[in-house]
Amino acid sequence: MDLAVHMQAVRKTYGSGPGAVTALADLTAEFPVGSFTAVMGPSGSGKSTLLQCAAGLDRPDSGQVLLTGVDLATLDEHRLTVLRRDRIGFVFQAFNLISALTAAQNVRLPLLLGGRRPSDEEVGWALAAVGLAERAGHRPSELSGGQQQRVAIARALITKPAVMFADEPTGALDTRSGRDVLDLLRTVVDQHGRTVIMVTHDPVAASYADSVVFLTDGRMIDMMERPTADQVAARMTHLERR
Ligand code: ADP
Ligand code: MG
Repeated sequence: MDLAVHMQAVRKTYGSGPGAVTALADLTAEFPVGSFTAVMGPSGSGKSTLLQCAAGLDRPDSGQVLLTGVDLATLDEHRLTVLRRDRIGFVFQAFNLISALTAAQNVRLPLLLGGRRPSDEEVGWALAAVGLAERAGHRPSELSGGQQQRVAIARALITKPAVMFADEPTGALDTRSGRDVLDLLRTVVDQHGRTVIMVTHDPVAASYADSVVFLTDGRMIDMMERPTADQVAARMTHLERR
């Protein structure tokens, strides 16, 4: 089984002395190529830190992160930046689009930053992939929340990343737009062959994934294959009562 991300005994502590917080406590987790995984757990359990370390945005204190087989610890800052740009897409709860730019200009940005002039075809492809070909000239303020998140997914998709990380991508959306975004993430896996790792609080969102990993206190304490929303909700209730 090829792994898109392999985390081995990853430890991450913020601060030092008596106030130190261990966000990841020797966490080990495997994310196969072409899979959609939901990461769940109580607030403060280390979900965002897991994404940051897996994406090379933050460096673990110890342990190993392999991204498409590359040990991130062996890369200097420059090579890490290049790897992030080429192989990783990020989608956030707050969309993080640039308000002065049109949808098309936002989507072009990762390639421009990589020193490449994107063709209109590439940008058109990415916007069409999220169903927004007709909105290319719209600014974020002229789009609904769900449409803005789809632009953010197009922006993540344009580099054809190996792994797309999403931190509560539906957290700011109404139910209907949230489902559209989840259907789209499913498409990113099923039709575009990408790997998606998504943090969520929502059992319905988690049910779109192939599997769910449950974190508590920076450790992976459980996982579930082919989750249903009801099963996930029951497991979460159990975890939060521990
Ligand atoms: P989650 O996303 O599951 O809510 P986080 O990964 O954001 O959890 O945080 C895990 C723990 O690490 C929490 O106790 C949080 O307060 C702490 N933490 C996260 N980021 C920082 C930081 N930059 N500085 C200090 N503590 C942090
Ligand atoms: Mg978080």
